[in-house]
Amino acid sequence: MPLGPAFNHELALDLQALEGAGLRRSLREIASPQGPRVILDGKTVLNFSSNDYLGLAAEPVLKTAAIQAIEAFGAGAGASRLISGSLAPHHRLEETLAQFKRTEACLAFSTGYAAALGTIGALVGRGDILILDKLVHACVVDAARLSGATLRVFRHNDLDSLEKILVWATARTAATTPRLRNPRVLIVTESVFSMDGDLAPLREIVELKDQHGAWLMLDEAHATGLFGPGRRGLAEACGVADRVELQMGTLGKALGSAGGYICGSRQLVDLLVNRARSFIFSTAPVPAAAAAAAAAVEMVASESGAARCRQLWDRVHQLQSTLAWGVDLPSPIVPLILGSETAAVSASGGLLARGLFVPAIRYPTVARGTARLRVSLSAAHEPAHVQALLASLQELGLRPLNLPS
Ligand SMILES: *Cc1c(COP(=O)(O)O)cnc(C)c1O
Repeated sequence: MPLGPAFNHELALDLQALEGAGLRRSLREIASPQGPRVILDGKTVLNFSSNDYLGLAAEPVLKTAAIQAIEAFGAGAGASRLISGSLAPHHRLEETLAQFKRTEACLAFSTGYAAALGTIGALVGRGDILILDKLVHACVVDAARLSGATLRVFRHNDLDSLEKILVWATARTAATTPRLRNPRVLIVTESVFSMDGDLAPLREIVELKDQHGAWLMLDEAHATGLFGPGRRGLAEACGVADRVELQMGTLGKALGSAGGYICGSRQLVDLLVNRARSFIFSTAPVPAAAAAAAAAVEMVASESGAARCRQLWDRVHQLQSTLAWGVDLPSPIVPLILGSETAAVSASGGLLARGLFVPAIRYPTVARGTARLRVSLSAAHEPAHVQALLASLQELGLRPLNLPS
């Protein structure tokens, strides 16, 4: 029987509602590798949209590692890791990551999203308390909902707000009689916030969670490869890496490949292998991704990684010193908040007409009324690219709400 018209009609109404609110999105085909320039809808444009912060996504060292892994291990992993898919490249990747992050152990997931989903659900459930920064990534929000833990949200980067919740959580867990195990309190935050580019006050958060006997899961998605003398992330930069229970990250941003990871103790990883459902019930990542990621970690740890990282920060400082607004840029993610959905989309269109790809970020990725352009810089950008961006921003005469006018 053919599909009735009602199905597509219903969905068309949903799409129209999105369209009417300025929130409809669609895919745009990129016909080139990631890099400072991409071919978007047939046109070569300067790319300020990618999270490929160190320019590794198209790096020959990573490509060679991926090709060699395909030759040695094939295209697919065949099954979940616990069935028959625990291939040597996954084990090498986890050893490399654990060594890089200086933790006892590491577990790789198919994506960062899957890492959050599986890990949070493995550690907390009904009777436990989960405390999130207001602006954590959607994968943590989804994981929190799925976990069944009691959820509390603190104001973004607000230590007083966090402390109040911790005081409440401590009292509440003290008042409950443990049944099978003690009730847990887990805080989840990001080191560099993905759509705002600002940094968590990590030292203070670590102090607070220790005072209150809570655990901390730190999502270093936008910090690994960028922060700290060894480029291990913000936890390293703040000197608190050994006090963070769970260090999470993605292999798809600065590390130029695909996948997610959790670094921490041996017990943590052993427990996740047994409990993280997104790990257990999902086919292992392809060997090519794991091998490319391992090559990326080695590169990031090396002198050439240090050089890339310096180049990235040079571009950040260039943008900072030439932006008319005179603001501090703590990371390569620069939000230009324009407010309305239509203002952000039209500014993005104006930049595209000038040959620059800077995406408009809208609800539900950011709160309603805070639609923005999100500029992200890469080590692969040249000074002239940043100058071109500045010139076009000036031509458009934007007045971002988050910057002094
Ligand atoms: C991108 C991102 C993730 C998800 O990682 P993927 O590997 O892309 O699934 C998690 N957390 C943050 C903060 C991110 O920006």
